[in-house]
Amino acid sequence: MHTPPKNAEALRKIKPVISYPPETLPAPDLELYAKARASAEKITECLVPPRDARCFDVPAGHFFRITSVEGPQVGDLNIWSATNIDERFYTGKTRALHGSHLKTGQRMWSSFPYLRPMATMTTDTLDWYGFDEFGGALHDLIGTRCDPYTQALLTGDMYHHCCHSNLSRALSQHLERPIEAVESYVHDVLNVFMCTGLSRDTGQYFMKASPVRPGDYLEFFAEIDLLGGLSACPGGDCSAEHSSDVAACYPLLVEVYAPANNALEGWSSPQQNSYDRTHGRI
Ligand SMILES: [Zn+2]
Repeated sequence: MHTPPKNAEALRKIKPVISYPPETLPAPDLELYAKARASAEKITECLVPPRDARCFDVPAGHFFRITSVEGPQVGDLNIWSATNIDERFYTGKTRALHGSHLKTGQRMWSSFPYLRPMATMTTDTLDWYGFDEFGGALHDLIGTRCDPYTQALLTGDMYHHCCHSNLSRALSQHLERPIEAVESYVHDVLNVFMCTGLSRDTGQYFMKASPVRPGDYLEFFAEIDLLGGLSACPGGDCSAEHSSDVAACYPLLVEVYAPANNALEGWSSPQQNSYDRTHGRI
């Protein structure tokens, strides 16, 4: 539409800089976590039914594992501080700090004004996948979550088993509060096992069949006391469509592991962000 300036090519050739160099972030002690995990024992598990969600508690210093159990299935993960659900996972800042897809050793960061690590990804059996030729990768921070509002906007349908609704119902049941009171605490997700990217030509969000197979799992270390919510997305492996009952869907298994006493010596749960919150007020 507009005429480019004479130096348009030169402007395009300016090399990008990483906005938040990862070496400036406080690093997790992955060796300590691995040692603690080696001695850890399972204390609870829950099976998330297809097209539904469940909540689960993970005390600070414990691990939780999400496993594909019967067939290829992606999950939409929410996490909250167990003592204050206003503190919740912040996909936008996590994406800015780490990238579009979460990898082993990277963290899930919480919302303002808390902004601290909530969980650290410690194992991913699908870490071999990397980025494919389309720019697709696993466990994205860009897809928000499937929801009935967008579905109504696009199709006029009233579909009640989108991840947003599943998570709202699960949170309502877990907290024993009305769904209207908790819906606004459901937030943008980590898209567990989902294979997605932004198309190189138009920047549009795309999905493709997930390579996840039964037995594949992700594991996280809980940095603070967590309440988790996981929805087994109605999209199944998200190879074709979501927000409907068309795709084949399978359950997801969540297991929580407690480390042995003293296994985390030297580790402490991160404090809330140190910013004084005065915002330049006079
Ligand atoms: Zn979904």
